[in-house]
Amino acid sequence: MNEPPQWIIEKKRDGGTLAEDEIRAFIDGFTRGAIPDYQMSALAMAIFFRGMTPDETAVLTDAMMRSGDLVTFENWARPTADKHSTGGIGDKLSLMIGPLAASAGLAVPMIAGRGLGITGGTLDKLESIPGYSTRLPIETFKRVVDEVGCSIIGQTERLAPADRKLYALRDVTGTVPSIPLITASIMSKKLAEGADTLVFDVKCGRAAFMRTPDDARRLAQGLLRVGRALSRKTGALITDMEQPLGRTAGNAVEVAEAIETLKGGGPTDTRLLTVELAALMCELAGVTADRVTARRELAARLDDGRALEVFRRMVAAQGGDERVLDDPSRLPQPGAIRDVSAPASGTVAFVDAQQLGRVVLQLGGGRTATTDAIDPAAGIDRLVQAGERVTQGQPLMRLLAKDAERAESLAAAAAAAVRVTQEPVPERRLILEEVRV
Ligand code: URA
Repeated sequence: MNEPPQWIIEKKRDGGTLAEDEIRAFIDGFTRGAIPDYQMSALAMAIFFRGMTPDETAVLTDAMMRSGDLVTFENWARPTADKHSTGGIGDKLSLMIGPLAASAGLAVPMIAGRGLGITGGTLDKLESIPGYSTRLPIETFKRVVDEVGCSIIGQTERLAPADRKLYALRDVTGTVPSIPLITASIMSKKLAEGADTLVFDVKCGRAAFMRTPDDARRLAQGLLRVGRALSRKTGALITDMEQPLGRTAGNAVEVAEAIETLKGGGPTDTRLLTVELAALMCELAGVTADRVTARRELAARLDDGRALEVFRRMVAAQGGDERVLDDPSRLPQPGAIRDVSAPASGTVAFVDAQQLGRVVLQLGGGRTATTDAIDPAAGIDRLVQAGERVTQGQPLMRLLAKDAERAESLAAAAAAAVRVTQEPVPERRLILEEVRV
């Protein structure tokens, strides 16, 4: 870099637009350790306050993506596609969408994350399947995608290392909630995994990263613009995360619900969003004529077991015990189960996802620090959903815990998450909007 880093920080501090070579040199210097953490933190804070133009954000994303290895799928027979969710409670959609989209002719190389705070993570869920490895070398990952159609693994050390370093700094410097920084963080990892088509499920609500539709839309637009600038086909839905998705939240319980959905059953909201997001992937990637056809074909693939078969082969290829598909009791089981009963008869008006996320965390199903261990069997199942009738004393959900004391200590908090009313309950809007730029 010709200019000293502080000039670049000052330029952004004063509201300037950074040049491409300034951004690339800064990220390169930071990744190599030539630019210290305090200067990177200062630039992150300047970006937090001053923002970035779409062009700056695209260059930042590209520089972060190129800070490590790039997975490539050039000249593959099948189009490559992936889905990313900004995370929520009960969001087990990746477990179904990867195999479902693969069964329809896409290759799905999915690099997923772990849960943190109240938000669950796909890797933790998959690791509750005995033997399943999320740490495959990239060559093995590509082989599984080639042979099975889908592979889900964790981020390697060499994938977008600039993001790993920068995220750790943002976490402790108050610079996480910046749309350009979030956009570059998410996109640099997703683009490095090599998929041509990317679909985003931007969650919105009290249990999501983005609390309001305006913020969710801004993030979705940022993701779509960067995708377009870097020649990817992208689509985004904003979906509700005021209430949990499905009837389970945790790890092993969510795998069991995913298997149910892959067998053509499962809760209506879970199936609907699985099909919608996979249909968007198929339409953008060009493997189906249009969305309506895609929805119909994908629903059939859930009903006739073709998507389940891909999941079975992926689990087996990654060392997991595929017998869990036929017998979910082979998944980790809790030491204690406690019903939480309805205090009154009526209609379920609302299930508070944030409150239940905290309950799952305290049951042992989540982590507050990246180094925490989780209890794969802990969580919630048989959860009621808004609009359902309940009678006094009927279970609203079951708490799954290591022991009876822990389940007991969380029963009141769990009960407080469900509001029962005598009034009519409006239908939940699960998909708030599809975002286009
Ligand atoms: N998820 C990411 O990967 N990065 C962010 O900055 C926020 C959420």
